[in-house]
Amino acid sequence: MKDCIIIGGGPAGLTAAIYLTRFHLDVALFDNGSSRAALIPCTHNHAGYPGGISGRDLLARMGEQAQTFGLHRRPLTVTAIEQSGDAFTVHAGEERFETRTILLATGVVNNRPKMDDALHDAALAAGKLRYCPICDGYEVTDRRVGVIGTGQHGMKEALFLRGYTRDVTLIAPDAAHMLDPDCAAALDAAGVTRVDGPCGGYAIEGDRLAVDTASGRMAFDSVYPALGSHIRSELALAAGARGTDDGCIVTDEHQRTTLPGLYAAGDVVRGLDQISHAMGQAGVAATTIRNDLAERRPLRR
Ligand SMILES: Cc1cc2nc3c(=O)[nH]c(=O)nc-3n(C[C@H](O)[C@H](O)[C@H](O)COP(=O)(O)OP(=O)(O)OC[C@H]3O[C@@H](n4cnc5c(N)ncnc54)[C@H](O)[C@@H]3O)c2cc1C
Repeated sequence: MKDCIIIGGGPAGLTAAIYLTRFHLDVALFDNGSSRAALIPCTHNHAGYPGGISGRDLLARMGEQAQTFGLHRRPLTVTAIEQSGDAFTVHAGEERFETRTILLATGVVNNRPKMDDALHDAALAAGKLRYCPICDGYEVTDRRVGVIGTGQHGMKEALFLRGYTRDVTLIAPDAAHMLDPDCAAALDAAGVTRVDGPCGGYAIEGDRLAVDTASGRMAFDSVYPALGSHIRSELALAAGARGTDDGCIVTDEHQRTTLPGLYAAGDVVRGLDQISHAMGQAGVAATTIRNDLAERRPLRR
């Protein structure tokens, strides 16, 4: 019987692992190796790294730190969680694990534009494809930027990026834009160019990422997909925890879900979708887990 099983080894799960192991709790972490942070070529907004750090390096450092304190970590995909009394069974395929509490830190997956994986990864590594204006909008200051998206979401992303550059084009992913008059007026007022789709034929051409649109082929220093994301909250929702309308897990201010003993932190909970926020939530979750366990039985050396 573990004190806590952490599902997810991104910034949230690893931060919680550092805290929980240092609370002298018996902790395991299961992760299937698809952290969004691993996609970050070099983050420049994460505090403490003046020259920036790649997502993979940051994860490796955090993993090493957690292992220093005795974290038991396994590369597993958790397939179900089941509550029984005041404990849980965690299923990973044929394997079963018993635990008093669970921290879900499974994150989200961005919906990608239609391009093959090799091109996607090359464009991402070169900063020609970007997913997070809060993180790296600074890097496109005064550059030529395309946003693939439409509706409220596309509009908001384009207007956010307008804070960095005058040259923003919002391109509808599939066909004509679906923008209500208010959205269209806001884009016009900000000087954001609107172009209909469908988008396709992505290729790196010179220093730019080029794309076919209804108005012909266009090329940008950076393209931001604003196509939404898949929230990896299924395990918690299937176990009976409440979710928001958009699929995030509902928690109280201490990161407790509506299912006693199940906690959640990071992108899977509604928030800023940032490393710092994921880490902050995880610190809160871990301390709450420790204190809730201490209410069940004294934690003493
Ligand atoms: C291209 C890109 C650039 C970014 N740049 C920045 C930046 O510069 N600064 C910044 O603050 N943020 C940045 N972000 C956002 C940042 O990566 C996320 O906010 C952060 O990774 C969230 O951490 P998390 O632990 O919640 O989720 P994740 O990092 O996504 O980790 C979730 C983990 O859960 C695991 N998992 C999921 N389901 C299961 C399962 N069933 N069983 C086992 N394991 C499972 C996955 O393998 C994964 O390791 C960027 C994101 C992207 C995509």
